[in-house]
Amino acid sequence: MITVSHLTKTYGGFRAVDDVTFSAQPGRVTGFLGPNGAGKSTTMRIMVGLTPASSGEATILGRHFSELPNPGREVGVLLDASAQHAGRTGREILTLAQRTMRMPKSRVEEMLALVSLTDEEAGRRVRDYSLGMRQRLGIAAALIGDPEVLILDEPANGLDPAGIRWMRDLLRGYANQGGTVLLSSHLLHEIEVIADDIIVIGQGRVVAQGTKHELLEAAGTYVRATDPARLAAALVAAGHPAEQSQQGLRTDASTDEVGDIALAAGIALRELRPADGAGLEEMFLALTADTQRDDTHDLQQGAAA
Ligand code: ADP
Repeated sequence: MITVSHLTKTYGGFRAVDDVTFSAQPGRVTGFLGPNGAGKSTTMRIMVGLTPASSGEATILGRHFSELPNPGREVGVLLDASAQHAGRTGREILTLAQRTMRMPKSRVEEMLALVSLTDEEAGRRVRDYSLGMRQRLGIAAALIGDPEVLILDEPANGLDPAGIRWMRDLLRGYANQGGTVLLSSHLLHEIEVIADDIIVIGQGRVVAQGTKHELLEAAGTYVRATDPARLAAALVAAGHPAEQSQQGLRTDASTDEVGDIALAAGIALRELRPADGAGLEEMFLALTADTQRDDTHDLQQGAAA
C-alpha cells in the first residue's frame, strides 16, 4: 500500500536519505524508527509530495501522491501537529478539512469524539492547545476523510503514557479494518508498543527491518547456568558467541537452541528467557550508535544548509 523504492535525497553533497527501500502493508502498523536526524521526516515528506526526491520513488496505493484525485480521502497525513493555523479552533480546522474533502458534516463531531477532545476543547484556539491536544487534533484531521492509508510523523510526541496507549488502540483498530499505517518515532518504546513491523533507519540508511517478532527473535536469549564459563564455551563451540551481561549470558541463539546445547553439555540451567524488550533496545542502540551523526557533522551541515 505504501512502497518506497531506492529513495535518495541529497542536500548539497549531504545524503539525508540514502537508497531507502521498504513497504508498509495493509492491516499492519509499520513503525519507522530512528534517532533524530536519521531521515524519517524527509522520507515522509517525499511520500506526500512536499519534498522532491533526488532519485528513487515513493507510491501510495500504487500512485504518486500528486496523482491521487482527492488525496485526503485516500491518505491521512500528520507531519507536524503545530503546523495548524494557531488562531483557529480545533472544530474550525476539522470543519475546513471536512468541507474540502466533501465529507458529511457529522464527521467533525465523530472525529472529535474519536480523539477525545471535549466540546470545550474543540472551541478553544489551537494556540492554547498542549502538544498532546494538537497531536489528537492532527490525528482527527488525518482520519476525517476516512482514508485507507495513514502517514504520521512522531504522532506520540507530547502524549502521556495513557495517550500513547489510546493511540495504539486507535491505530490497531484502524489496521484491523484493513488500513495501512506508517508512523515514525525516535523512541524505541513507542514503536515497540504500537507497531507490527519495524523499519530502523540511521543516517539516511535502513539498518534493519522485519516484523517486531523477527527483530525480537534476533535479539537472542539470556541464560544463567551453574557453570556459565562452560556454557559459554559450549555455545561458542556450537557457533553462537556468548557474552556476559548483568542479566546473565547473552547469545544470539534461540531459547530452544540454548536448552539443547546445555543439555548436550550436561550443564544445569537456572534461567532461560528470550532477550526481548531490553534486547530490542540494545539492538536499536547498537544499530544506530555508529550511524548517529556527531556534533561536528551537525555543525558542518548547519553551515552548508
Ligand atoms: P528525522 O526526521 O529522522 O529526525 P530528518 O529527515 O528531519 O530526520 O533530517 C535528516 C537529515 O537531513 C538531518 O541531518 C537534517 O539536518 C537534514 N535536512 C533535513 N531537511 C533539510 C533541508 N531542507 N536542508 C538541508 N538539510 C536538511
